[in-house]
Amino acid sequence: MKIYVSCDMEGIGGVTLREQLIRGELLYEEARRLLTLETNAVTEALLAAGATHIVVKDAHGSGFNFIPELLHPKAEYVMGATRVENRFPGLDDSFAGALLIGYHAMGGTALAVRDHTMTSQGWQSLRLNGRPIGEIGLDALLIGQRGVPVLLVSGDDKTCMEAASELPEVAAYATKTALGRHAALLKPPQRVRSELQEAVRRAVGNAKSVKPLQLAGPYELTIRFLHTEQADARRYDGTQAERLDGLTAVYRADDLTELLSIAF
Ligand SMILES: [Zn+2]
Repeated sequence: MKIYVSCDMEGIGGVTLREQLIRGELLYEEARRLLTLETNAVTEALLAAGATHIVVKDAHGSGFNFIPELLHPKAEYVMGATRVENRFPGLDDSFAGALLIGYHAMGGTALAVRDHTMTSQGWQSLRLNGRPIGEIGLDALLIGQRGVPVLLVSGDDKTCMEAASELPEVAAYATKTALGRHAALLKPPQRVRSELQEAVRRAVGNAKSVKPLQLAGPYELTIRFLHTEQADARRYDGTQAERLDGLTAVYRADDLTELLSIAF
């Protein structure tokens, strides 16, 4: 059984502050360690649940946050920058499922640790075919396009609520209760790791009953920026890419991957 794991950092146990999430900041090295150890706990649970091939993607920022020396020896790791057209290298329909670990709520969510969609600096929010969407929904669609279902989402309580509305049949595990963008009632990381392992075992056991998320095209992606200059800096052709107002642009394509490559 092959399983793909995408690991972001905002939703990892013990992570709450901006200083934990940016390379060079004082608390980043400790947060990398938390990320790596939580990732290893997931791998251990997947092996116990019968996984024979595990690919883990480092999905935060630069894509290079895991501490290589500490990584579990029985998985393979995608690290470094990948383009949005190739967001999950190596993923194909031979995988039985995917896990979204350490994720966060979409931009604009109230009381959610580091809520954002794709970038914290530039965009307020995204809509796909008129419906608000965050990274959970986008990633589940990209994974679903390959015929693979998402089996588990972890992150703060708002991440779990978003997962429940995007993926109603999918399990979610809350690593913390968010009290603000930079505040949370934290579960200790050691407890997170053991509870998450239990959630992984249950989710993998449930794999056959979960369907890949799919949405038929054509697609329309609306981006709401924070500043007009961000919208100014883009190119518009009036059909595939169009500016709707000072802060809003819309992108259109029949194919989801093509849509993301023109919009991002
Ligand atoms: Zn991130």
